[in-house]
Amino acid sequence: KKYVYLFKEGNADMRSLLGGKGAGLAEMSNIGLPVPPGFTITTEACNEYYESGLDFPEGMLGQVWASLKVIEDQTGKEFGSPTNPLLVSVRSGAVFSMPGMMDTVLNLGLNDTTVQALVANSQDERFAMDCYRRFIQMFSDIVMGIEHYEFENVLVNTKETLGVKYDNEIDAATMRGVVEEFKKVVKRESGREFPQDPKEQLVMAIKAVFSSWNNDRAIYYRKINNIPGHLGTAVNVQSMAFGNMGGDCGTGVAFTRNPSTGEKALYGEYLINAQGEDVVAGIRTPQPISKLKEEMPAVFQQFVDTCLLLEKHYKDMQDIEFTIERGKLYMLQTRTGKRTAPAALRIAVEMVNEGLIDKNTAVQRIDPAQLDQLLHRRIDPNASVEVLAKGLPASPGAASGKVVFSADEAEQMADDGEKVILVRMETTPDDIHGMVKAQAILTSRGGMTSHAAVVARGMGKPCICGCEAIKIDYAKEEFAVGSRVFKKGELISVDGGTGRVIAGEIPMIDPELNDDFVTMLYWADEIRTLGVRANADTPEDAEKARAFGAEGIGLTRTEHMFMAQDRLPVVQQMIMSDTLEEREAALAKLLPMQQGDFYGILKAMQGLPVTIRLLDPPLHEFLPNIEDLMVEITTLKLTNGDPEVIKKKETILKKARALHEFNPMLGHRGCRLGISNPEIYAMQVKAIFYATAQLIKEGVDAKPEVMIPLVIHAKELQVLRDQAAAIAEEIKVETGVDLPVSIGTMIEIPRAALTADEVAEYAEFFSFGTNDLTQTTLGFSRDDAEGKFMHYYIEKKILEENPFVSIDQTGVGKLVNIACELGRKARPNIKLGICGEHGGEPRSIEFCHNTGLTYVSCSPFRVPIARLAAAQAAA
Ligand code: ADP
Ligand code: MG
Ligand code: MG
Repeated sequence: KKYVYLFKEGNADMRSLLGGKGAGLAEMSNIGLPVPPGFTITTEACNEYYESGLDFPEGMLGQVWASLKVIEDQTGKEFGSPTNPLLVSVRSGAVFSMPGMMDTVLNLGLNDTTVQALVANSQDERFAMDCYRRFIQMFSDIVMGIEHYEFENVLVNTKETLGVKYDNEIDAATMRGVVEEFKKVVKRESGREFPQDPKEQLVMAIKAVFSSWNNDRAIYYRKINNIPGHLGTAVNVQSMAFGNMGGDCGTGVAFTRNPSTGEKALYGEYLINAQGEDVVAGIRTPQPISKLKEEMPAVFQQFVDTCLLLEKHYKDMQDIEFTIERGKLYMLQTRTGKRTAPAALRIAVEMVNEGLIDKNTAVQRIDPAQLDQLLHRRIDPNASVEVLAKGLPASPGAASGKVVFSADEAEQMADDGEKVILVRMETTPDDIHGMVKAQAILTSRGGMTSHAAVVARGMGKPCICGCEAIKIDYAKEEFAVGSRVFKKGELISVDGGTGRVIAGEIPMIDPELNDDFVTMLYWADEIRTLGVRANADTPEDAEKARAFGAEGIGLTRTEHMFMAQDRLPVVQQMIMSDTLEEREAALAKLLPMQQGDFYGILKAMQGLPVTIRLLDPPLHEFLPNIEDLMVEITTLKLTNGDPEVIKKKETILKKARALHEFNPMLGHRGCRLGISNPEIYAMQVKAIFYATAQLIKEGVDAKPEVMIPLVIHAKELQVLRDQAAAIAEEIKVETGVDLPVSIGTMIEIPRAALTADEVAEYAEFFSFGTNDLTQTTLGFSRDDAEGKFMHYYIEKKILEENPFVSIDQTGVGKLVNIACELGRKARPNIKLGICGEHGGEPRSIEFCHNTGLTYVSCSPFRVPIARLAAAQAAA
């Protein structure tokens, strides 16, 4: 079996076998770009390595040595040669890029003998020793598990003794000493000499890369990014290009377009006389790529041409690594560049305009979940803010939160419900868990391609990097900026779009769609067939939804209106009534209020349908909590409170007790209330149609749809429907307005789904209430499940995913399918929608499209996401 591919044997389509990096290196080699020769060990080899209990698959090593021979011939160097040694990098390369998550060893093949050859051949002992000390440090850290800082300490002390600031200022003789010190560290920490046999080094390094697939950082990264664990990593072995050989050498990273804004301009950083990770690790502050034009014009031009070529070739923005060795350019990596949501939109729109891709491709390319960032609030531009400092605007968005200085603490405080801003000198992959939980990230060191910046952009979190004005003191848990000091827990705000660090909390405003976003959604609308509505309970929300492109309201909840401050006493009066007359008197007071509610929403949505759900929760939700009442009453009694008040509270307590249910979710609610207390729904239906009549008289096209919740049986619906239709008829006659009457039901109980043909006889539309349908199908009460046991189901992979987030397609989805089929059979033109929270979740939206629903309904801010997801489902 073939486990090893030379770069020239692979191509871009072999990602899953060669990993992203390997496929990219192969593709670049084959289109004639200057790539140092090398080969890739496949992901299959990695998986077989794990399956066999950490043994290389048979024949793999033989292929490695054979391929190495080819590289030797190509470079004219020899691995381990005492006169002309070949040095290689050993690089991990997963199928999906996992930046900084996996480990890479550079300069492998060096030992006490070969390093002397490097000295002789380069005529540069400082360079040779620099390679050797880097190699010992990386190899020991990654392969032998010796802590990085053991070596860092030696370096720091050396620089202090010399009185210099940067690694590249250490002279040759001193660097030779550093190498000796490093070897002592290895002996001390591992109990063995640093391995001198290059072949042994290579074998150990390959094993270490395979193993890094399952280190904690990698596992965590996969978990938060939904990358399956069975993919494995490939290993790339590549001859070295040296960027640390002097002033005509360097190394850098670049994006073919700006990953933060999407602007079409080469964007990157480089360091002269440096190697590998130096740029990303923020060892020295790198130079902007434009500077290269002055320093090495020919190389710069070649690089610009190469970037253009790669972008054209891949038809997408590329993230590129390169090294310059003695004035010669080498390409070391290319991959699709990660970008912020605004950049993703701008790049896709501009690439369509440039003729590079078509609209459909553009629509497919946007991750709907990522758009979420753009639909968040941002700093009010009119607010006066106290700007403390300015750093690099590494990832846009704004956030306020409490300052914390460690990832662990960020995680802990966030878990306790605090909003935190993680403030670090720089971040490393070990900080990921804290970055995930922080509102935003602020670092005092590092550039736009530093770890913090790259990861924050990937997560869609605001981030400011390299804010050097901030002096962090980890020990004191504070940072100083100018004359001010901020301690742990104090509030600051960051604006990742401008790089401003701001004191205290700041006022935010609602998001608006920019031109690129609007264009993209317009293209999405051309493609999608699924309708998109919003869930909204107020005219303001309805307007917001409409501005975001909602084609109607799929769910207006009336209970929120009952909860309003001025309503609650009347609602309680209604509930407390002993006789029907009393209750009707209270309802009569509620009628004009409800009518006003419906008037506002129907008006805001004029011309578009508005589905209004009749009262859904059990009545005791409108009464005070029983325990609270008992405490209040006891306190009043002990303090000789007003007997009248006590008596009143006692009556409420009695009623609350009478209404108490053992399981309110399955209790006296929804249309069950409508059956036992028809006067409540009657009032609501009146309010709807009076409001409609009033609007139509005013020339407004009001389109209400009356929705009856929690139906289990066709007869139940028949009774309630007849009552509602009769009321509508009366109001028609009374007002002389020809009212549009549409009455339907929610499908949220399995029985209703299974008898949907019978139910459809009385329903002009179905709306799947998938929150309750999931609860009733799984028999999970959502709050209890999510609070207590759901995570076991996810961890043990019994459920692949939280069914309240993404619809359980096999179970709940099957009921939806059955209900749609039966419903259509009984009533071919029946409208079918979904109004659970799933309506705004891309995979559930795809399911809805495939099931042939008429529309999804989601929260107003998710409407743009749903429009895009619906288009992606249709393509
Ligand atoms: P990551 O996946 O973390 O980016 P890489 O394998 O790309 O890790 O390597 C880390 C750094 O080492 C990069 O800056 C890369 O350009 C550099 N590098 C890797 N291989 C070579 C090589 N053969 N010659 C010179 N630099 C290399
Ligand atoms: Mg890389
Ligand atoms: Mg419900």
